[in-house]
Amino acid sequence: MNHEGRLILVSNRLPVSVVRSSNGVEIQQSSGGLVSALLPLLKSSGGCWIGWPGADYDAEIESELQRESSAEFHLQPVFLSQSEKQYFYDGCCNEILWPLFHDLQSRCNFDPLYWSSYLEVNETFADAVERSARRNDFIWVHDYHLMLLADCLRSRGVRSRMAYFHHIPFPPPDVFEKLPWRAEILRGLLRFSTLGFQTERDRRNFFACLRRCLSGVQIKKIGARFLVSVEGRHTEAATFPISIDYERLACDSVSPEILAEADQIRRDFSDRKLVLGVDRLDYTKGIPERLIAFRTLLEQRPELRGQVALVQVTVPSREQIPKYQECKIAVERLVSEINGAFGGPGWAPVTYIHRSVPYNRLLALYRAAHVALVTPLKDGMNLVAKEFCAARSDEQGVLVLSEFAGAAVELRRGALLVNPYDFEGVASALHEALRMPEFQQRIRMQAMRRMVQGSDVYRWCKNCCGQALFRDQFQVAAQSA
Ligand code: UDP
Repeated sequence: MNHEGRLILVSNRLPVSVVRSSNGVEIQQSSGGLVSALLPLLKSSGGCWIGWPGADYDAEIESELQRESSAEFHLQPVFLSQSEKQYFYDGCCNEILWPLFHDLQSRCNFDPLYWSSYLEVNETFADAVERSARRNDFIWVHDYHLMLLADCLRSRGVRSRMAYFHHIPFPPPDVFEKLPWRAEILRGLLRFSTLGFQTERDRRNFFACLRRCLSGVQIKKIGARFLVSVEGRHTEAATFPISIDYERLACDSVSPEILAEADQIRRDFSDRKLVLGVDRLDYTKGIPERLIAFRTLLEQRPELRGQVALVQVTVPSREQIPKYQECKIAVERLVSEINGAFGGPGWAPVTYIHRSVPYNRLLALYRAAHVALVTPLKDGMNLVAKEFCAARSDEQGVLVLSEFAGAAVELRRGALLVNPYDFEGVASALHEALRMPEFQQRIRMQAMRRMVQGSDVYRWCKNCCGQALFRDQFQVAAQSA
């Protein structure tokens, strides 16, 4: 890295899970692609990762985290109280910002108490960063939980370079302006030195929101990036679509064990055509809408009854939030209605798996599927779509992908793009996918695999850090407090 300081990563969650057993507390490090890409950077700079460990305060957890921290980097927990979890995390993050930023404003609960808690928790994270960061450090903040962190830090006189990556979509102004605290969020974001978005649409929406909600906004394009100037302050903004550890997935998915498991899955379904859905159980993922589309297919194409099976994996998520409970009930009702209406001896149209599946099982499912049905109503990126492609070294399988997933930008040449609200359109794309000749599957899958391979998560990290975040080309002024 071409700067002298350390990397300080800040995200709502630390990349660990805390497991309690009779032997005490155990810290398990998360193993996703993002973590694999970020840890080497963190280690090479001797930096620190700050976030909530996902458990209540406990001195044992604190000391275990300290033990887990190596000479190379440090894990620093920020503990949240019960009320902070309720008002900040469940409330502001997941009942206001999450639905609003996914264009679902009717699902928002704009409770002012949630907002107060958001301000407080951003200050609490700022305390932790201030304790750790030195002048030359580079502070890289992740996601919508911490959009005010730079503002909190600048107000305390912290002048380090700070970047923010927005993992979820940024909504258009007609949606965003519903937020009672819209100007505070925009001004807060502009206190970062650099802002990164998943897609050009998100970046353009952000600019449109700035123009709608603030006055005196000037935006200058410099190469592939933009310099935003408002009220005498300057922020760089650019697009960096996040990705996966392609080589690892591609390599793991051809191990003899995974291939044998995939064969077994196909046999378990008596060689019927398998359609696969894999999502957190979140209303933005469009699972009820997908089930209705699948039902539409079975209604319109009776010849497919008994010939095709949908395997829907839903990972439990945010279960204490009412809208998530409603979504779960809707999914369960639809699964049961479809199986009741169309199933028969030896065939259930939908196999519903409501739990997290192990990594190897997931790879085997990707290999066994004829079609991956990825139809979020809106999604920042959607890594499942990219993982499916990485796993298909056999160059078979069809991706049916929502045009409202960030991944659609990169995968549009190979995927069948659909509007998830158009049940008949999704049903007909699914029909096309199930009948697609092998040579056409190959051409499409090759195009998608090339795309994902050429821009994996390591490239994303390099682009964010090497070219933008650690770069002074714009001479972006360290913003004054
Ligand atoms: N995933 C998992 N266990 C499961 C199902 C999915 O770990 O049982 C992973 C999947 O491999 C992917 C991630 O969860 O990496 C989902 O990422 P995505 O971007 O698709 O959606 P998100 O949940 O982040 O909104």
